Amino acid sequence: MNDASAFLDRLARIVGPANVVVDPELVAPYLEEPRGLFRGRTIAVARPGSTAEVSAVVAACAAAGVAIVPQGGNTGLVGGQIPDASGGELLLSLRRLNRVREVDIDADAMIVEAGVTLAEAQAAAETADRLFPLALASEGTATIGGNLSSNAGGVAVIAYGNARELTLGVEVVLADGRVANLLSKLRKDNTGYDLKDLFVGAEGTLGIITAASLKLFARPRARATAFVGLADPDHALSLLKMARLRFGQQITGFELMPRIGMQFVLAYDPGARDPLGDAHPWYALIEVSAQQEDGLDDALTALLGDALERELIADAALAATLEQREAFWRLRESMSDAQKPQGGSIKHDVSTPVGAVPAFIAEATAAVAAFMPAARVVAFGHLGDGNTHFNVSQPIGADKEAFLDQWSAMNEVVHAVVARHGGSISAEHGIGTLKRELLKRVKDPVALDLMRAVKAALDPRGLLNPGKVL
Ligand SMILES: Cc1cc2nc3c(=O)[nH]c(=O)nc-3n(C[C@H](O)[C@H](O)[C@H](O)COP(=O)(O)OP(=O)(O)OC[C@H]3O[C@@H](n4cnc5c(N)ncnc54)[C@H](O)[C@@H]3O)c2cc1C
Repeated sequence: MNDASAFLDRLARIVGPANVVVDPELVAPYLEEPRGLFRGRTIAVARPGSTAEVSAVVAACAAAGVAIVPQGGNTGLVGGQIPDASGGELLLSLRRLNRVREVDIDADAMIVEAGVTLAEAQAAAETADRLFPLALASEGTATIGGNLSSNAGGVAVIAYGNARELTLGVEVVLADGRVANLLSKLRKDNTGYDLKDLFVGAEGTLGIITAASLKLFARPRARATAFVGLADPDHALSLLKMARLRFGQQITGFELMPRIGMQFVLAYDPGARDPLGDAHPWYALIEVSAQQEDGLDDALTALLGDALERELIADAALAATLEQREAFWRLRESMSDAQKPQGGSIKHDVSTPVGAVPAFIAEATAAVAAFMPAARVVAFGHLGDGNTHFNVSQPIGADKEAFLDQWSAMNEVVHAVVARHGGSISAEHGIGTLKRELLKRVKDPVALDLMRAVKAALDPRGLLNPGKVL
């Protein structure tokens, strides 16, 4: 028996033969990611069903010197969950760790395993009449382990923060197979370094998250949602500032969309309708939520009336029914997919200080026009968090491959503007493989040294998701 088959036998004894997958047809879906940018190979897919099994698999990998690539829902957009091309790495799928261990309404916390999907976690909270507010378009497939490892953001960050801010604790399997129990439900715990925060956003390079303790919130009893047409991002920013003064933490969504994005969605989704009579250069989707049942629609209507009077907005529609609210959100949520039929799209998931978003969009759009005059900028996203998805669709009729060959050059053009505004080259999607080289160029060198020191301390042999992030 050779080393590889002895290793696979050992894994089969830990997780059961059915959970060591080597059939190429069954392995294939684990090896390709949503954008089709990365494709890998693997020795096998191991599918442990408990923390103890994860621990034993990781210990077996440490003994055999086999590198591990953790994977949850495989919806990550930077290639972090895809093994390299060597075929020597083990793909560790956490999806069978799918139990909700506890919902504690007194502590307003719940403990769920890493493979629970975000939608299942939201449903578990709802069953206890609580809200778990993380919300992403991929929530039906993305897992809590993946959400925490990528420090996911999404549409409700403006009110509740990103995955890191929603995490009270984690249970983690370390590179040598030991289990660190950091599954605290405490709101206050000043006992030294906050170790959980090392694993949130680490993209599987420091440990394998097997469970998480998550914050719960009161479920809003009322929601008001408006779709607004306006002249430019500057006006949208003024509207956001005005809304903040009136609604404070009650603003649970503030999304910005350009006309071209709306056109793409209307062409892509036969069920989509423009809520406003006339076309507008830009749109904002505003949502406010409250515990009190009454008065929210009126308060939002009053805000929009004042904004019209001050000429901050040109037109607005308030959702009168749940169906209308969902239709407004569908326009926003289809915006990524709607770019696909338009050919190649070069992506930038960037952030700047909120106040700099209009200047960033204007300057980056001008820089792209100078670099590639016919390229079509689709800049949209979470204005309330300063997070712009600055995507660039290929010129009409251009060759897709030739356009995508310009990915790095286009990145340079856009990221130079991000840097001028003190922004980040990755707002919510992470670094993975896609932005690893870029990170080396833009991150403070001392900060990079600290990151390497942490990696060396926790994973001295470099077996946890090698080649990702660093
Ligand atoms: C349609 C669509 C919309 C999206 N919208 C958003 C959005 O609004 N905001 C946003 O932030 N992201 C968004 N994403 C990106 C993606 O859904 C998130 O990054 C999500 O958190 C990834 O979860 P996952 O379970 O699919 O993780 P995976 O893709 O499987 O893995 C992501 C990373 O985490 C690591 N990992 C996974 N599980 C574990 C674990 N248990 N322990 C240690 N490491 C682990 C992987 O190695 C990889 O590096 C979107 C993606 C799609 C396809």
